[in-house]
Amino acid sequence: MKILLHTCCAPCSVYCIQRLREMNIEMDVYWYNPNIHPYMEYKARRDTLKEYTKMINVNAIFEEEYGLREFCKNVVNDLENRCINYCYRVRLEKTAKYAKEHGYDAFSTTLLISPYQNHEGLKKVGEEMAQKYNIPFFYEDFRPGFREGQAKAREIGLYMQKYCGCVFSEEIRYYCHNQAKRDYPMDLKAIKEEKPQVKRIENKEDYIDLLLEADPSKTSIMKYLQDSDVYGLKLNDEIISLAVILYIDKNTLELKNLVTKKEYRKKGYAKRLLKHLCGNYKQKYDKMLVGTTENNIPFYVKQGFDKYEKTIKNYFIDMANEEIRDGDLICTDMIYYSKDLKKK
Ligand code: SF4
Repeated sequence: MKILLHTCCAPCSVYCIQRLREMNIEMDVYWYNPNIHPYMEYKARRDTLKEYTKMINVNAIFEEEYGLREFCKNVVNDLENRCINYCYRVRLEKTAKYAKEHGYDAFSTTLLISPYQNHEGLKKVGEEMAQKYNIPFFYEDFRPGFREGQAKAREIGLYMQKYCGCVFSEEIRYYCHNQAKRDYPMDLKAIKEEKPQVKRIENKEDYIDLLLEADPSKTSIMKYLQDSDVYGLKLNDEIISLAVILYIDKNTLELKNLVTKKEYRKKGYAKRLLKHLCGNYKQKYDKMLVGTTENNIPFYVKQGFDKYEKTIKNYFIDMANEEIRDGDLICTDMIYYSKDLKKK
């Protein structure tokens, strides 16, 4: 299989190319990013990609087009939705068309590695272009490799850009850099301050794979899932964290599962979801329990689960046929703590 890989910049391509090679997928790299501003930035990114592809022996095709006016004309009336309504669209359309005309088996994009892009939106546009040009969109969630790729790019000395690309993303950088958030134009505020929202999840079973990352037993998940409520933290149309709440009695709840997608971890999203739920549940309930491994006790104590309740000896050994690990720890006992929801 040979794909045409739309490439936004060399650093983002590092992990994507490595991953595709691991999957034995051949590729040509395709540069088409007419919106990058200013021209010197455009040139720096393009030339870095030229050098990098030469260095790793990958064929690269460069569409030389610097389209500031065309880009501005098309996005100026709806800056907030410019990425999905215009930028992704023109780049992926050109890629799909080129791929079809030149006999590739599929097309894809390195934009799929960025945790800062609207991932679901990108996927949707890719699929739309696939239909329009009758060529498959090769979808892969490259985001788990984002940090690794960026670290490698830095290590080999690639030019690392400071903003997404267009003049408006550069403007946001200016405001952030100067900490003049209150001076944001209104539409920029909306872009910058996209807030995750808590949603009740109806189609609980669609999220089994993510829940399994926090609780390795599918049987155990299926048991508590049917009697629990599941809440998700939604960011840019994507559920990034989940919490499963089981109702024990009229005063007590139990947090059965709390998990965040890999690429969003260590950013406080699970904490945020839990805080929101505790705030809501305190109207009706007194106490929330959580059963956890030793490794996670400090996290839960920090979130107010500071009362030790009980230990179920060898819980993890009895539950599974194989060794369950949490980092370096081989899980044995389940330790219960609780949080007083009414406590200020
Ligand atoms: S922020 Fe990035 S993806 Fe969005 S329009 Fe600008 S360059 Fe395109």
